[in-house]
Amino acid sequence: MIQISALPAFTDNYIWLLQDPSTLRCAVVDPGDAAPVLAWLKHNSEWTLSDILVTHHHHDHVGGVEQLKNVTGARVYGPANEKIPARDEALQDNDRISVLGWDFDVYAVPGHTLGHIAFYHQGVLLCGDTLFAAGCGRLFEGTPEQMHASLQRLAALPADTLVYCTHEYTQSNLKFAQAVEPDNADIAERVKNVAQLRSRGEITLPSSLALEKLTNPFLRTAETSVKQKADERNGRDNRSGAEVFASLRAWKDKF
Ligand code: ZN
Ligand code: FE
Repeated sequence: MIQISALPAFTDNYIWLLQDPSTLRCAVVDPGDAAPVLAWLKHNSEWTLSDILVTHHHHDHVGGVEQLKNVTGARVYGPANEKIPARDEALQDNDRISVLGWDFDVYAVPGHTLGHIAFYHQGVLLCGDTLFAAGCGRLFEGTPEQMHASLQRLAALPADTLVYCTHEYTQSNLKFAQAVEPDNADIAERVKNVAQLRSRGEITLPSSLALEKLTNPFLRTAETSVKQKADERNGRDNRSGAEVFASLRAWKDKF
């Protein structure tokens, strides 16, 4: 059984560490900085870093890739449509790779960036800056339509799927979620739980798709109250889920 834990990086990034105790091999996801990974490997010297997974080209996700590969010889997997340093395998939509003996499906999830990919293995979703706990990534390259479709695709995975995104944004995302849905009891409860975790300095991840569907406004564009709020905000009738999404995303950008 593979274990997953978080190595904090920069101010609010997490580098996910996947460990297979049966082989003492490990993998990391989106190492924006090599230092936390090298420090972990130094303190856990029986472990070998064999694989590096990359979701998209932003520096806080790839900054440590080259150094880690040079030091460990790890194999680097990343999106085919983006410039990824030291990439060994260029991945396309619906590719399947084997990492630490786990099969991962690769999904193209354009929106935050155009080539962004996510990795999925039975109940584990590594989604980079696409789906966040109670939020989603900014649209740096893609359109609202693309991001909406990408999020819908992820939301269609089994509800018990654990969501391993790469930033600790949950608390601020929930403030926005509450502004969209002031009467949503699940959001109110999550606000309390997350406040407790953060007051103890604890991580709020992974999330689950079930919880996201109850509390993440960007997955709730089909809810009447969410649509009405989006209509109020931009003073028009948002006819499709993608239009509701676009209104919410534009509102959040200035929130
Ligand atoms: Zn990013
Ligand atoms: Fe990021």
